[in-house]
Amino acid sequence: MKRLIYDLDLLSLTETLNTWGQPAYRAVQIWQGLYRNFWNSPEEFTNLPKSLREHLAAEFDFQPLTPTLKLDSRDGQTRKTLFRLPDGRQIEAVLMRYDHETHQGRSRRTLCISTQAGCAMGCVFCATGQMGFQRHLTSGEIVAQVMYYARLLAQQGETVTNIVLMGMGEPFHNYENTMKAIDQLNDPQGYSFGARRFTISTSGLVPAIRRFAAEKRQVNLAVSLHAVSDEARSAMMPVNKKYPLAELLSACREYVQATGRRITFEWALIEGVNDTPEAARSLANLLQGLLCHVNAIPLNPTHGYTGRASTRERAAIFKQILEQNGIPCTVRVRRGIDIQAGCGQLASRTEPFPVP
Ligand code: SAH
Ligand code: SF4
Repeated sequence: MKRLIYDLDLLSLTETLNTWGQPAYRAVQIWQGLYRNFWNSPEEFTNLPKSLREHLAAEFDFQPLTPTLKLDSRDGQTRKTLFRLPDGRQIEAVLMRYDHETHQGRSRRTLCISTQAGCAMGCVFCATGQMGFQRHLTSGEIVAQVMYYARLLAQQGETVTNIVLMGMGEPFHNYENTMKAIDQLNDPQGYSFGARRFTISTSGLVPAIRRFAAEKRQVNLAVSLHAVSDEARSAMMPVNKKYPLAELLSACREYVQATGRRITFEWALIEGVNDTPEAARSLANLLQGLLCHVNAIPLNPTHGYTGRASTRERAAIFKQILEQNGIPCTVRVRRGIDIQAGCGQLASRTEPFPVP
């Protein structure tokens, strides 16, 4: 099988070209074609000699992702794509448009990408968790999701402004490839996507949080919490049995101390389970003194879990109690509920897909 061009960083691309007798500036031309012009086939590199284009085509795969389903939400603000990988596995990536929020004069376009096919963590409320683990994505397969949407947006004169690693999979279970992908997208000679515009979400792999803190990256960190007692959290998130709350919270405190960065806690609001006023008060207690923010989002329904989303009213009370107790909280609006935009929701479907 051919190597995936996106699996190479600029240094290894330069080394590969060197073995072909090509000068270093050719590697930079290819790099910029990929990450600035979003070219995704060797024929597009018309600035290269034909023989080099042919060599590239023979050695490298430029399109590891085949879109098999594209869905737009009714309001046109959310686009979800299901991709088939070369080995037949499926992953999803979702683009969310926020026209009223801007960054440096550009409307916010947040891209949610996957880091694994399936997930080993088994969170009971999560469609990806219900599928089980299939495999890690390579760094190039993570990068390719971004390039797919970057190209699409560029055709409309737009750009991706934020990238969240909140699609399928646990990024910290695939640590090396995830960081390699981020570094590659961050490369100033290529896509040059600012580290601060990435957010990694983890279910709470404590050693990886510590490692991430030690690396002092500028990338934002979000931790999925969802419950404040070990009993309740272990029932929802098996990872809690290995890394219980006290350990998790102490790793989070170390992270904030080491980096000075605010941490986000995610909370899927489930009616009657974790959206009660008592739950809000216990959560506020747990987080006292920690530089943080709570991102609450009403549960997305999945086939394998009976819990229901909290109503708007209950979510508002939850937020109010947290804020009265000094913990900033936003209640996120569910996006693309009509296209099953919660990650894993498409790939885990057992019935056949409609023809795209
Ligand atoms: N594995 C990482 C990142 C992917 S999941 C993690 O768990 O953090 C991204 C976020 O979606 C997590 O906060 C996760 O708890 C949440 N999530 C998963 N299934 C959900 C659902 N059905 N409804 C609402 N949020 C969900
Ligand atoms: Fe995996 Fe995150 Fe889903 Fe849990 S919520 S199963 S960690 S993708």
